[in-house]
Order: sequence, then C-alpha cells, then structure tokens
Amino acid sequence: MSQAKRHEFQAEVKQLLHLMIHSLYSHKDIFLRELISNASDALDRLRFEQVTNEALQSDEELNIRLEPDKGQRTLTIHDNGIGMTRDEVIENLGTIARSGTKSFLDKLQNADGNLPPELIGQFGVGFYASFMVADKVEVLTRKAGEETATKWVSTGDAFEVEDATRPNPGTSITLYLKEKDEEDHLEDYTDDWVLRRIVKRYSDFVSYPIKLRVWEDKGEAGAKTLEDQTLNSQKAIWARPKDEVTDDEYNEFYRHIAHDWSEPLARIPIRIEGTFEAQGLLFIPSQAPVDLYHPEMKRGVQLYVKRVFIMDECKELIPAYLRWVKGVVDAQDLSLNVSREILQKDRQIRAIHKQLVKKVFDTLETIKTERPEDYRKLWNHFGAALKEGLVAGESKDHERILDAMLVRTTADDGLVTLSEVVDGMGEGAEAIWYMSGPSYEAIRNSPHLEAFKSKKIPVLLLTDAIDDIWLDRGLKFRDLPFRSVAKGDVDLAKGGDEAEEKKAQDEAEQTYKDVLTAVRIRLQDEVQEVRLSNRLTDSAVCLVADKDALNPQMERLMRQMGQEIPKQKRILELNPDHAVMGKLKGMVAENDTDPAIQDYAELLYGQALLAEGGTLEDPSRFSQLVAKLMVGA
Ligand code: ADP
Repeated sequence: MSQAKRHEFQAEVKQLLHLMIHSLYSHKDIFLRELISNASDALDRLRFEQVTNEALQSDEELNIRLEPDKGQRTLTIHDNGIGMTRDEVIENLGTIARSGTKSFLDKLQNADGNLPPELIGQFGVGFYASFMVADKVEVLTRKAGEETATKWVSTGDAFEVEDATRPNPGTSITLYLKEKDEEDHLEDYTDDWVLRRIVKRYSDFVSYPIKLRVWEDKGEAGAKTLEDQTLNSQKAIWARPKDEVTDDEYNEFYRHIAHDWSEPLARIPIRIEGTFEAQGLLFIPSQAPVDLYHPEMKRGVQLYVKRVFIMDECKELIPAYLRWVKGVVDAQDLSLNVSREILQKDRQIRAIHKQLVKKVFDTLETIKTERPEDYRKLWNHFGAALKEGLVAGESKDHERILDAMLVRTTADDGLVTLSEVVDGMGEGAEAIWYMSGPSYEAIRNSPHLEAFKSKKIPVLLLTDAIDDIWLDRGLKFRDLPFRSVAKGDVDLAKGGDEAEEKKAQDEAEQTYKDVLTAVRIRLQDEVQEVRLSNRLTDSAVCLVADKDALNPQMERLMRQMGQEIPKQKRILELNPDHAVMGKLKGMVAENDTDPAIQDYAELLYGQALLAEGGTLEDPSRFSQLVAKLMVGA
C-alpha cells in the first residue's frame, strides 16, 4: 500500500471550502442533489463510453445507491459510473475549472464574504457542497477499464490521496456527518425519510434508479428483511404528457439543468414529428447568469438521443445569441455515438436548430403581447445578448430580433418596440434616428437631440456596447435605415418653409463667417471643420462625426480592445441662435487676435466633449479656464 500524499487545494477552492464550512445557507439539503447529479453524470459518461468500447460493457444495472450508517453517522453515495483515475481525482477535487464558480467567488470577494446565502443554490457549487454537512469527506473511486482505485480524504483544509482497492469501477463518496442541528438547518441525513424526501424533491427525474437499502417489515411476527427501494420515478419529464406534470416538477427539472434557483419565465415544449422525431423542453430563465458575457459560458441546451445523455451545451442546436435559453432536446433517430463533426453536418440537427429558434421567438412574441411586464424584465436581462444575433445571425434572425427589440427613446418614458417608434413617427419618415452612448443618463440630454426634440421626432437612445456594432451593418426596419443624430448633416426641414430656412441659413453663414474662421484656426489640431448647426436649439455647441466615420463609442471600444486607431477629427457645430455667438462676433470684430478668443474656443470644444460623455484631454486646463471666466478675468 502506498503512502498517503498530502496536497494543497487551489486558492479558489480554499475560499469556496471556507464558505461551505461556515455556510448559513438554509437549504443544506442541496448537497445531495449535487452529489447525485455528479453520480448521474458519471453514469451517463460510462454509458456513452460503452457504446464504442466493448470492454466496458456489462449487464450490471447502472445505478446510484445511498447507504446511511446511523452508528457511524456517515452517509455514502455509491455509483457504478465512469470513476476517476488518480490524476483526475487530484485535478477534479482540488481545483475549480468552471467559469461560473469563478465568477461566484469573485462576487463573494466583493461582498467581503457576506454573500446572500441563496446564491449558493443558484451557483450549484458541486462536490464541495458536501462540506456544508460533513466534517470529513472520503472518496473511493476506480476508473472504468482500470485496475487500481484511489482514495481521497479531506477535512476541508488540505486533502490526501493514496492508492486503494475497490472491487468494481465507480465512485463512493462517504460523508462523516455533522451533528443534527435544526438552528443550523442540518438534518439527520442518515434518516430514511429525510433521504426519501430530498431525492424526491431534487432528483426525481434522474434517469438512473437511486436506491436506498431499508429494513422492510414483512408483518410476520416482526420479521424484517433488507430491501433495495428505488426512490425516484426516472421519467424523462419532456416525454410525459403535459397535464401529468406539475409546475413544481417542471421547475425542479429546470433547477437541475440550469443550476438556477429562481423560477423560469417560460417553458417551451418541443415536439417534432414526421420524417424524424425529437422531443424537448426549453426554458427562458427569469434572470441572466453572471457569466452571460463570459467567453466560457456554457450554452444551455443539452442533447439526448433516445433518453441517453449525449452532451451538454450542444452548440449545434442553438445559436450563440440564444445561449441563455436552457433545456433539453431528445432526438430519436440519431446514433448514440454522434460526434461533433457529424452534428455539424447533420440535416436533422439543422432542422431541429431551426425549430428551436422559431419556437423561442414565438414564445418571446407571446410573452411580449400577453405579459408585457415580464417581457421588459426579460429584455433587460437578455436583450443585449439577443442583439448579438444582429451581427452574427442570418437575415431571417435579424428581422425577428428587430421585431423582438425594446428600446428607450426621447419620446417615451419606458421601453417600447421599434414598431411603436415607427408608428409614432408619422408619414414621410425617411430614417429611424438613434443616439448611442455609454448610458441613458449620459445621452438623454445630449445637445445632438435638441432639434429632434423640438420637432418631436423620436430618437432611439441606445446604450449597449453591441449597439454601435450592429448599427454599422446597414440593417433596415420596415424599410427604414437607422441613422445617427451625431453623424453627417441632419436636415430636418419639412414642408413649405424649406426655402425660408435655406435663406435664414445663408444669412447666418454670412453673419458668423469670421467667427467660424476664428474658432477653426484655434482648434485646428482638434477638429476638421467648424460649421453652423441645425440640430441645436438650446446648447451652444456639439461635436459630430463625418457621415462614414467611426462613432466615438466604437472608437473607445476598439481602443479598449488594444487597437491602434489614429485620432479621428470631428466637426464642431455651433448654434447660430445662442447668445455666445453674438458675444464672439463682437470679440472677433474688435480684435481678432484677442487671447480670450482662444479661451472661448477651448471652452466650447470642452463643453461639446463633456456633453456627450467624453473625457477632456487636459481637465485641469479646462477648469482653470472656467474659473477664469467665472471671475471675469
Ligand atoms: P461539476 O460537477 O460542476 O463539474 P464538481 O465540483 O461537482 O463540479 O465536480 C468536479 C468534477 O469531479 C466533475 O466534473 C467530475 O469530473 C468529477 N466527479 C465528481 N463526482 C464524480 C463521480 N461521482 N464520478 C466521477 N467523477 C466525478
């Protein structure tokens, strides 16, 4: 027998264990859900391997066994699944690979350890949840196809690993239970009835029998025999008639596959019949996972073939922009040993993919019309992810996403649909105007919007990072292009007063010719042009981009991503109706070398930058100029 070797846990695991050991979480029962789910995964993996590896095939029933020992105060969870090698044990039970758990720990750090305990359930912290109920945990495991077994033991500080023996492949996890303590939400996990209740609640649909050995009373003079009882129904919930499944069962299933404690917003049954058959069940969560924008986030749809689990996060089934939709698809006519390569080319999979996307959009439409309040919630959580489909998806998707989109505008208080915006624009509209920026607060009073507001033309206020990217793609909604209020010329003159406006404009150009030149000379390093504006009513100044230029939001984004971008000079527009113009005109006429003109030009430029949420290159110089102006120096 080899010596036990001591190993340190990875720092993140230590942190997680600390949390588990001191947890105030009131649903400590979930430890069993986590261990059963791991066991069920291990059985899935063995069953999957058995398809291609004859040496692993056997007649033995694949199952999970619970073995409580009241005397020792232990509970052992056995499975005859795939098992682990020594290296896998050290890797799997000593480190954390999942991005979800990492972000959970980041949150924890920000909260100084005072994390609301409900979050534990939402994250599904897996194997380490054992330490909520046990002081010591022992794992005895043997990988299918190998001879030696491995024993792993830990009391939560470090862990020891040694070679061991085990008659059959599989894994047994023995928990040395803490004392029952109702105040601490610890139950007696050696009690039959406690175990029965927890299994029924959390693991009823697990597709392997979960067995408990109990003394069965035979009624004859008190004779009792030991019997294995199966605690779970094992019925695939997606294959059962809808009216036979309760809401609770659906929600429990959702919790199992999504690791999300909150109730889903909607469920979508999938039935495909005809040349091939598939069934499934999708869910729309009511909140976004913390890792929604993490590149490692798992896509939410699992693939089964004839009730046999094939893979998690089947990318071929659902587009990335719908990665937050959770669920299961069970295809009847695929081979059990489908590979990723086959999936990518498979016609059935492509047909299922189409159906799922269609079903999801149909459901979004239903929620939008029937439960507008829920739909707004949904949009706030998933809208930005959905918009990614406007960049990556197909044109059919674009139409559906634009239909599903909710926006804020200058004309409405809350969120509205694009159709509502277009309906509100009246006849003869040529474009859907938008303003994009880092936040609603930063742009809603932007000078660029003034003329639009005074002419009652609604402008979309878009603030997701993805917006500038899809807006650059030239998409149309109801035949109208999207145009930025901060780009190119805007010509909002309508109807008969056009000639009049043109005349007024020419006059203003004449009046302020010298002012424009004077400002242009002083700001020639900053801007490419200075001109009069017809988009301002109250503000003195704003900056606009060339018709084809990158917009500032996009520019910032690209810089953040480390791209070298030459400085983009923009156009400074001045408001001919603003009092400061008269003042400047007087100054220029009196002495066009007056150093105060330089100060004014810089102040105007700075104001324009600030008003669009930008940053000043030299903020202290700007504030000195403001102070100087305040004291009239
Ligand atoms: P998760 O299951 O979410 O990946 P866990 O911390 O619960 O995270 O488990 C870590 C890993 O340990 C699993 O991914 C799996 O590879 C392995 N593991 C856990 N339990 C078992 C088991 N009963 N049989 C085989 N492998 C297991």
